[in-house]
Amino acid sequence: MNEIRKVVIVGGGTSGWMTAAALSKVLKGRYELTLVESDEISTIGVGEATIPMIALFNKMLELDENEFVRETQASFKLGIEFVNWGRLGDRYIHGFGVIGQDNWTVDFHQYWLKQYLAGKAHELDRYSINTSACLQNKFMRPRADMPNSPLSQIAYAFHFDAALYAKFLRKYSEARGVVRVEGRIVEVEQREDGNVASLTLQSGQKVEGDFFVDCSGFRALLIEGALKTGYDDWSHWLPCDRALAVPCASVKEITPFTRSTARTAGWQWRIPLQHRIGNGHVYCSRYISDDEATAVLLSNLDGAPLADPRPIRFTTGRRKKTWNKNVVAIGLASGFLEPLESTSIHLVQMGIAHLLTFFPAAGFAQEDIDQYNRVMGQEFEWVRDFIILHYKATERRDTPFWNYCREMEVPESLQHRMDLFRTHGRVYREGNELFTKVSWLQVMHGQRIRPQAYHPLTDLLTEQEIQAYLEEVEGVISACVDVMPSHAQFIAENCAATRPG
Ligand SMILES: Cc1cc2nc3c(=O)[nH]c(=O)nc-3n(C[C@H](O)[C@H](O)[C@H](O)COP(=O)(O)OP(=O)(O)OC[C@H]3O[C@@H](n4cnc5c(N)ncnc54)[C@H](O)[C@@H]3O)c2cc1C
Repeated sequence: MNEIRKVVIVGGGTSGWMTAAALSKVLKGRYELTLVESDEISTIGVGEATIPMIALFNKMLELDENEFVRETQASFKLGIEFVNWGRLGDRYIHGFGVIGQDNWTVDFHQYWLKQYLAGKAHELDRYSINTSACLQNKFMRPRADMPNSPLSQIAYAFHFDAALYAKFLRKYSEARGVVRVEGRIVEVEQREDGNVASLTLQSGQKVEGDFFVDCSGFRALLIEGALKTGYDDWSHWLPCDRALAVPCASVKEITPFTRSTARTAGWQWRIPLQHRIGNGHVYCSRYISDDEATAVLLSNLDGAPLADPRPIRFTTGRRKKTWNKNVVAIGLASGFLEPLESTSIHLVQMGIAHLLTFFPAAGFAQEDIDQYNRVMGQEFEWVRDFIILHYKATERRDTPFWNYCREMEVPESLQHRMDLFRTHGRVYREGNELFTKVSWLQVMHGQRIRPQAYHPLTDLLTEQEIQAYLEEVEGVISACVDVMPSHAQFIAENCAATRPG
């Protein structure tokens, strides 16, 4: 057990600078922190939509949220709209936060389900403050001073410019002592026991360290290049393997939600920022050519493209171990799940949070490393199942891609959840897993999985009582959304970017 003194972060993309910012804030100058990045090797540059957990990261860094929004040309996000996923023409929103108001006996959605199956309740949108606000382009932060109002339950995340985010965090990290070294790493030297000892840059400069965080993106320079850790390939469940990303001009009011539109062999994202809209087409090269995928993307933009589409290739899956010897991989170096539910930056955040929990200050212990790998493996699997659900729960039969997805076998853990929902509409959340019961509910219902029956305990209330309960929730939410400002107005009044994009 040798004490750790010098930590080297490899890579200056979102994950590299998020790691640098967090370590410099939490470790308070006790360790030497160096970040190596190459100006010649560009960052992935996409990664613009997030989920509400990012608020915890910002809080830990003690960021001024309005400043962060201004500096990254960000907008607010209340959920994701899914178009054409269940069937062509379908549309639903996966809103963050809660739905309805839980009763002590059974979940709110069970009362809703009873009435819905009888044709007496509206779609879920009306019972969620987040989704109702999305549909009217409204936004405000939650009102902590009104604990009994749905206005206190607004849950939000951000859309931001990933390059500006990295720049913002670089400034933050350097102010807290992180030393940035620019240069291309051409060699990774290992000790006899396989641990990484140092990196050699093209200039000949050597960077030594006790502990390395591999944030080198898909290259996975240390965790795979040097340590040959291996990769679990999940592309039989998530067959998309390419993406094209292109920004376009903003021509309409910015929506407080991401849009994901299913196409013939994949899906297209739309992420509204203050200065532009981020777009991308994620697709499966087995079913569509690059030229066709480009044409689909370019013919479905709100405004004029601001650059040529940038191609990206990937294999969905995760590294067999995200911590191997004295190297922890965070970000794309640790694995990749497509950004359908905007979870990659969240997985970066969890990689950092768990790293801090198991930080090897006094030297490496295999027990800590094993536990880190176990918890990170679980984080990836939870997200994996939720993303596969979107593909599996489709009724589309219009292309071979959707036929494959509809018919594929899915992990047992996911099959079990779908079966459980199909019988009595039951959903559950295991341990600290990321997605809540209402997340599962919204996607399963939004993609047309219909339970055969509702929870029998809802019969303890009369139908009139249930109907009054639903109507009251709907009325209160509607009144709350009425008083919210528009998303554009909220940004203009609180955090409009001061510089042009
Ligand atoms: C198509 C697509 C869409 C995405 N959308 C989202 C989204 O909406 N939401 C979300 O949360 N996530 C999204 N992601 C994921 C997100 O982009 C990444 O998780 C995030 O940007 C982290 O990337 P990274 O920092 O690990 O890697 P990168 O950005 O690739 O950075 C790698 C760094 O390593 C450095 N480097 C590499 N090799 C060397 C070398 N030899 N010497 C020196 N330096 C080197 C590079 O210079 C660079 O600084 C998306 C990803 C893809 C592919």
